Amino acid sequence: MKKENKNPDLLIIGAGPVGCVIAERAAKLKQWTSLIIEKRNHIAGNCYDKLNSKGVLVHMYGPHYMRFKKKKIFKYVSNFTKWINGNYIVKSHVDGKLYPIPINLTTLEKFFKIKFKSKKSAINFIIKKRINIKKIRNSEDFILSKLGREIYEKFYKNYTLKQWGIHPKNLDKSIVGRLPIRFDRNPYYVNQKIRVMPKYGYTRLFQNMISDKKISVQLKTDFNKVKNKIKPKHATIYTGPPDLYFNFKYGKLDWRSLNFSFKTHRKKKIQDCVQINYPNEHKYTRKVEIKHVTKQKTKYSTLCFEYPKSKGDPYYPINNKKNKNIFKKYERLIKKAEKKNVFFEGRLAQYKYLNMDEVIERALNLFNRIKKKYSR
Ligand code: UDP
Repeated sequence: MKKENKNPDLLIIGAGPVGCVIAERAAKLKQWTSLIIEKRNHIAGNCYDKLNSKGVLVHMYGPHYMRFKKKKIFKYVSNFTKWINGNYIVKSHVDGKLYPIPINLTTLEKFFKIKFKSKKSAINFIIKKRINIKKIRNSEDFILSKLGREIYEKFYKNYTLKQWGIHPKNLDKSIVGRLPIRFDRNPYYVNQKIRVMPKYGYTRLFQNMISDKKISVQLKTDFNKVKNKIKPKHATIYTGPPDLYFNFKYGKLDWRSLNFSFKTHRKKKIQDCVQINYPNEHKYTRKVEIKHVTKQKTKYSTLCFEYPKSKGDPYYPINNKKNKNIFKKYERLIKKAEKKNVFFEGRLAQYKYLNMDEVIERALNLFNRIKKKYSR
């Protein structure tokens, strides 16, 4: 890694997607230098992947299913990698059987043991199962009103409880609303048409992004240790948790974290598809065999088991009333900090459950704002 630059144009806290995108744009469009400070011993944030001892490429912080809502964001990221198709297939293990998830026509037929003549007859069947709820206030209401109690109980309730440690009644509807509900046979995990995996992995992608000489990275460094020593000429971009930045002035924001446990087998493939969810059994939520989508040709394959927990690295902001209220207060400080050219962006800094393409888009927008400020 390149050496520290004490007086960079930009000081960037965090070498995840936001940090890398902003450093890249700054170098390319403004010839600005950036110093990226990263706490961990690697770049790429939670997208970090690497070859394990058996040569299997593993996503070290859970699966990252890259998909793009917007072509222009896809085009931008394509500057740094070649792609392979990412037709993500996920199944849910319920009462000893595997069902397509998101719920689709095949799931409904298998679960209710009915062969529907058409999409319409499946919808009519589900309409009778739906519970009439006037105001949808949370994740439980959302699924009960769309799919009825049986599906809710078997596929959503316990998975959500395990994943968040919070009852779906107390979680915003947008959480379970991330999953599509389908009355056709589309088996893919996500709705976006552009579903791709970086051909040589995410770490390589982000390495390519920040390969310019104007970008330096300092790993294994806590922001607090450098913040008084380094004075950026233009701006600081902070991508960590806001409560930490402001010394917990308004209290702690809750985060959900995960433990990852890996098991490598001398087998080309171990399970049916890339991800199997276990809503009602085990302490882990899901078992991921990433080789299904990295398409590596190796004798070995690796499973990753995800165990949710409340302590540890922050992965998921918790979208409930308590945290929304705390974040609102920090948001005011974030706005004030912007006036002093400190900008907060990303899943952690904005306390928002964002996907990778959304994060990249936000980073590009933020860079444009900063750039404008200095071209006046
Ligand atoms: N979910 C569920 N059952 C499943 C899969 C997801 O109840 O089989 C709910 C759960 O609350 C989860 C949310 O839907 O947190 C979003 O799922 P997604 O797979 O998008 O989560 P991520 O991959 O971001 O962890």
